[in-house]
Amino acid sequence: MNIPQLIDMIDVGIITLDSEFVITGWNRWMENNGKIPEEKIVGKSLFQEYPNLDNSWFRRNCSSVFRFGSFAFLAQKIHGNCFPFEPASSFHSDFEVMQQDCTIGPVRNEKGDIDQIFIVVKDVTQIAVYEKKLISMAEKDGLTGINNRKYLDSKLIEEFERHRRYNHNFCLIMIDIDFFKKVNDTWGHLCGDEVLKKVTSLIQERIRTQDIFARYGGEEFVILLPETELEDGIKLAESIRKLIELEVMNSNGKTFSVTISMGISAIHDGIADSKDLLDYADKALYEAKTSGRNKVVSIN
Ligand code: GH3
Ligand code: MG
Ligand code: MG
Repeated sequence: MNIPQLIDMIDVGIITLDSEFVITGWNRWMENNGKIPEEKIVGKSLFQEYPNLDNSWFRRNCSSVFRFGSFAFLAQKIHGNCFPFEPASSFHSDFEVMQQDCTIGPVRNEKGDIDQIFIVVKDVTQIAVYEKKLISMAEKDGLTGINNRKYLDSKLIEEFERHRRYNHNFCLIMIDIDFFKKVNDTWGHLCGDEVLKKVTSLIQERIRTQDIFARYGGEEFVILLPETELEDGIKLAESIRKLIELEVMNSNGKTFSVTISMGISAIHDGIADSKDLLDYADKALYEAKTSGRNKVVSIN
């Protein structure tokens, strides 16, 4: 097999350009993904076909390849995608366009002069999909599918920063299921898991899209309420408390219900950092527990 044949069979896009950015080569991969046959595009200006590439960083990278014979790497994460191609159908739900890494390098003639450059286009959509999934898995709780503590911690820091800069108010609610050990002991651990999922979905339905809801650990949850005054946070907490209390749970045809205790606190000048706010809400929760459970207690 000769080199031109190989270039057509290879699983990456290969384009060659002259110093005026006129396309001189366009392999089969580019034909298939760009949906333009070689004979229709060779001889045309790259920028006419792909105006998005007519920008200073792309021109600068190409110029340095022409001048110094160096290589330039255009990573999708930094520069975005060079060629707006469709991704493979299985990736449509994750990305609207194919994610690409591109390398630009020199093409030397017989005299050793650089009179053309090449661009290699690599489809990295599959890697980007896995990366997205991994990031999402690292921030989600496996059982309930809601955010985990790590995610909450990062959002709390962000919210503190917003408060410090713009004086935006926010509240934090800490939730703990009452006598949950008894649920496990009476109905079994699997039923306990179902209760955790049910409580999660009921709370999720009640809160706003901008609220951040996380499983803090075991049978404890936290809701971060941006742009919320304490009184409104208490009203929301109270409505959630009632919602859970009224929900009828099932296990093997038998019905039961659970209750939750909640501690709530709002940001104020006496609170130094996110740990401090969590401590306040935790103290309020402790008070809710020790004063009878199934109630909302606020501390400010
Ligand atoms: P309190 O009203 O004081 O909060 O009592 P409690 O029984 O809810 O509190 P305790 O901390 O004694 O028990 C919490 C229980 O939650 C113990 C633990 O086995 C259970 N638990 C934690 N994570 C899970 C889980 O993922 N699934 C199930 N089924 N149970 C869990
Ligand atoms: Mg607990
Ligand atoms: Mg509990």
